Amino acid sequence: MKTFAYFDSGHEFPEEIVMAAGFSPMKILGDVHQGTAAADEYLFPFFCPFARGCLSDALANSEKWDGIGVAHGCDATDHHYDMWRAHVMGVPIFWVNTPMKIDQTAQIFYRKELTRFIDNLIKQYSVKIGENELKDAIRLSNQVKSLMQQLASLRAKKDISNQDYFEMTHKAVQMPKELLVEELKTTLADWEGRGPFPAGKTPILLTGSDVTFVEYMELLDTAGLRVVRDDLSLGERYFATTIPDTADPVQALVTYSFDMPRSATRVPSDSRLEYILGALKDTKIDAVLSQNMKFCEPYAMDAVWTVPALKGRGYHVMHFERDYTPSDNQMLTRLEAFKETIQQKGGRQNV
Ligand code: SF4
Repeated sequence: MKTFAYFDSGHEFPEEIVMAAGFSPMKILGDVHQGTAAADEYLFPFFCPFARGCLSDALANSEKWDGIGVAHGCDATDHHYDMWRAHVMGVPIFWVNTPMKIDQTAQIFYRKELTRFIDNLIKQYSVKIGENELKDAIRLSNQVKSLMQQLASLRAKKDISNQDYFEMTHKAVQMPKELLVEELKTTLADWEGRGPFPAGKTPILLTGSDVTFVEYMELLDTAGLRVVRDDLSLGERYFATTIPDTADPVQALVTYSFDMPRSATRVPSDSRLEYILGALKDTKIDAVLSQNMKFCEPYAMDAVWTVPALKGRGYHVMHFERDYTPSDNQMLTRLEAFKETIQQKGGRQNV
């Protein structure tokens, strides 16, 4: 199957449209082990290293892909489109402008934008993208999301390591969806048979910049912190809501885009905090780990508001900036200290 790669920052790219066109969507995630040297030729060193990693990935691998979509998430993904068009050669690159707001004007705008993207794919690849193709893609996508919901809900009850969860979310955005459904079914049977949530681990909610390499999730497990809820796009943002089953599939994608848990790049910000608070309450978690990738302004700036808001409600919260590196031993010490604090103080404070 042909691969259509995409670059976004908060699950903005409409995977179902390229699925309807006969492609397998694949989210570009960079490779922390390869570093960012290739992209550093074109981007300033104080630019988000994850985004630089994605450009390095595209410079190295674009010839294996049949198309690239760049969807507007944060400013890094926005300005990357121009950069990628100039330097990533031999593959058509498309732009999908996703609105920051959710009002009616934004909905009309986004619908036009999706229609424009569909028309451009039809023109470029001579494919048919009609209602039936879109509805089939939405059905498959919802099957994936529904399985992921079931899998993710087991994190608070069973011994599901952070690495296992990360690998599931990683495959979800990179594997062909038909194969993925079978893989998720097998994983569900495996996870349902696991032992109970380990006594030595502290359940937390993880929020902030996307975690794109497994080593970071391993680090949290090593520190005794088990992620049982999150609002990441390599995580719950991808599957928390399904796409409405309506007669108009393009409108269904607009609604889905506006209903999913919001990222820090979207306004109003209140709904992002509401999702986090709802998840903490539903799963009975007392601790939140908030973090941002170095130079990731959306999550660094949002933390100035979300962290005090969570602390004010009595939750244990730690926020820090992290590097784009697979090994960070200094961070382990800070994470272990956070776990100790939670253990010493017990549940939510002052509530
Ligand atoms: S880590 Fe932050 S700055 Fe970088 S792409 Fe993601 S949202 Fe944008």
